Amino acid sequence: MLPTLPFDPSHVLIGGTWRATPDTLPLINPSDGSTLCRIGRSADADVDGAVTAAQIALDGEWGKMSALERGRCLTRLGQLVLEHTDLLTTLETLDVGKPITQAHADALALARYCEFYGGAADKVHGETIPYLDGYTVYTLREPHGVTGHIVPWNYPMQIIGRSVGAALAMGNACVLKPAEDACLTALMFAHLAKAAGFPDGALNVVPGLGAEAGAALARHPGVQHLSFTGSVQTGRMIQTLAAENVVPVTLELGGKSPQIVFDDADLDAALPFLVNAGLQNAGQTCSAASRILIHRNIYDTVAAHMADAYRAKTVGPASSDPDIGPLISTKQKARFETLLKAAHDLPCIAQTPMPDDLPSDGAYVQPRLYGPVPPDHPLSQEELFGPVQVLIPFDTEDEAIRIANGTIYGLVAGVWTANGARQMRLAKAVKTGQVFINNYGAGGGVELPFGGVGKSGHGREKGFEALYGFSSLKTVAAKHG
Ligand code: NAD
Repeated sequence: MLPTLPFDPSHVLIGGTWRATPDTLPLINPSDGSTLCRIGRSADADVDGAVTAAQIALDGEWGKMSALERGRCLTRLGQLVLEHTDLLTTLETLDVGKPITQAHADALALARYCEFYGGAADKVHGETIPYLDGYTVYTLREPHGVTGHIVPWNYPMQIIGRSVGAALAMGNACVLKPAEDACLTALMFAHLAKAAGFPDGALNVVPGLGAEAGAALARHPGVQHLSFTGSVQTGRMIQTLAAENVVPVTLELGGKSPQIVFDDADLDAALPFLVNAGLQNAGQTCSAASRILIHRNIYDTVAAHMADAYRAKTVGPASSDPDIGPLISTKQKARFETLLKAAHDLPCIAQTPMPDDLPSDGAYVQPRLYGPVPPDHPLSQEELFGPVQVLIPFDTEDEAIRIANGTIYGLVAGVWTANGARQMRLAKAVKTGQVFINNYGAGGGVELPFGGVGKSGHGREKGFEALYGFSSLKTVAAKHG
């Protein structure tokens, strides 16, 4: 059951006021299929109202606030997030089906994003440029204006933190469209932002369907930058809509990320990362390590250890804090099971045991480990977004690089080897936005810029890179006298 909330979850936040939408949508708990509440179904007029409210904020108090004051608002927001981590964790557990420990980590990460961007707000400077005699030339970093943020359901708090946090730090006014499958923490974040002292309209939240509220935001002529995290298919549509208005887009899309394990790797260190980076959040992670490339000399050993780890994992409702909860919805479960049909000809070397008493309407799927799998098999190529990994043996470094680069994606790669020269060669040769050497994810710190190449998207969020992305550069050239 949903805890008592300090806001009505069927309302949307526009210009500092919670409002009803013409229609509502059910919000489902994926652990048992129950309806948690109804949420707003924002229509064109709601999105238009939110964009207008954001522009009014920019023309008013929010636009006039100093970087120092914006930073203070974010810092206060981070503090409020920390004070409400229990509620945020509970909401994410119910809404996303995310196990308690993983949901709690996301709540802490949201606070950290606010702290980081609160501290960074007044530390993004322009530069002076030596130029012709008689000129003084300098650059200013200015907000884009109204920024649209369309986020998915898998890591709502983390993605809101990194994208909305950075945009607010630079003085943009945000319109946030959370996913229709999971928007409670977005609404709670907006409630806390009001309490932290953000002026009305600096942050507006319009939940609703992608094809309605999302598309209305993406094509709105009053939006000056779009940040989208989600599937390649939707990202392509967003970019097309943004092109009509000639506005910049950050696309954080999918992946089929490899971890490459050489025969000199420290296997004790590698094994937990090899498995957990595939199963975290039930595999519904853009940077999930869904392909494990293993040198043939150690293939059998690594496969056996990973199989043991799969058998030792637990599956269950999010509130029981298992290793693996349900998928986000029965719709996503059906998609996953359809894609998994391609695995019928593959050796499944381990499955996680499924308890007998799982709620029958929950969106549970059985975690499975397949290997050896050919690198060009659909299971090695398609993003399944579920708890499945494939093991791919290789013989040489060149072959490992070829396989690692052999998908349409380029988000993350992990490299496990004790050979320093090989570490550097791989870091250059692998075509991804991030390479992790002898680790995977590096703890996901806000400090580390994040993004993809290829069909994994373009633009960077997190770190100072996000602050550059959420601002535009103005060059001022003053002629003396
Ligand atoms: P999705 O593209 O279906 O939905 C994402 C968001 O877009 C939701 O808010 C949805 O309502 C909205 N949307 C859907 N259709 C739309 C439309 N026509 N116009 C405008 N908005 C629309 O993606 P999903 O299934 O929710 O998320 C899973 C995908 O997200 C996976 O591919 C995953 O890899 C990717 N992802 C990437 C990152 C990253 O940082 N690269 C992080 C998390 C998830």
